[in-house]
Amino acid sequence: MTIFTPPLSLRAALDRAARVLSPTSRSARVDAEVLVRHVSGATRAEIMADAERALSDDACLALTRLVERRRRGEPIAYLVGSREFWSLDLRVSPATLIPRPETELLVERALARLTLSAEDRVADLGTGSGAVALAIARERPRATVVATDQAEAALAVARANAQRLGIGNVEFLAGDWLAPLGGRRFTLIASNPPYVRADDPHLHDGDVRFEPRAALIGGMDGLDAIRRIIAGAHEHLVGEGWLLIEHGFDQASAVRALLADRGYRAICTYKDLAGRERVTEALAP
Ligand code: GLN
Repeated sequence: MTIFTPPLSLRAALDRAARVLSPTSRSARVDAEVLVRHVSGATRAEIMADAERALSDDACLALTRLVERRRRGEPIAYLVGSREFWSLDLRVSPATLIPRPETELLVERALARLTLSAEDRVADLGTGSGAVALAIARERPRATVVATDQAEAALAVARANAQRLGIGNVEFLAGDWLAPLGGRRFTLIASNPPYVRADDPHLHDGDVRFEPRAALIGGMDGLDAIRRIIAGAHEHLVGEGWLLIEHGFDQASAVRALLADRGYRAICTYKDLAGRERVTEALAP
């Protein structure tokens, strides 16, 4: 374990942390900066302008612990307890998936399908930290949003995020996928469900090793949760309601086939910024 012993300047801390992390992290320099900012309270600009400023003894101790945890693979977002998504500073914990940039496509497509009226009723299934529900609710303040998750620990994080961000138009319900929705119908249902195959080798690599299995793995072919959502969503959609699902880059045609089998219309897949088929949407049958 590398001990960060005072006296230590911001610059020296940053250089040493980056060096310690480089064998195990592809983003060592960025990781080091995020951790030094976290323990010192310095902004990026302050680190640049005032690099010789000394870290306090407490900050050195905290950095020693965090760099060691990062060296062992823990995700940066769990170490600092937050991740930005759709310009929202979201708290995250090991009970929640860490929001991914590609999931912003799901939000983008949902917003494209929502009007600005007070009529919109949106459900986000498997909300985790609340990322998708909160981004939609922030952008459509007149809409009412319901967010579900089977994990109480995740819902607690999502509720706290809503409160901290002052987003009042989201209701959080515990339960599996569509079950907590009862007899309610929505103009739009969105979900970023678990869709990784149980035998996907990536599960043994990097940050995902520390994320909740239930938020990642969708059974043998990755489609278990998606099948359940597609099988039941039409009972919770209004006549011209939309279903939007995030999926793996190689699952789009399977998802389109499942939707077509149920009689969904206007089925269309969209690519994320990396050019991968990532979100499929469809109009209620
Ligand atoms: N995109 C994520 C990954 O590949 C998976 C997230 C999910 O299953 N919803 O790690």
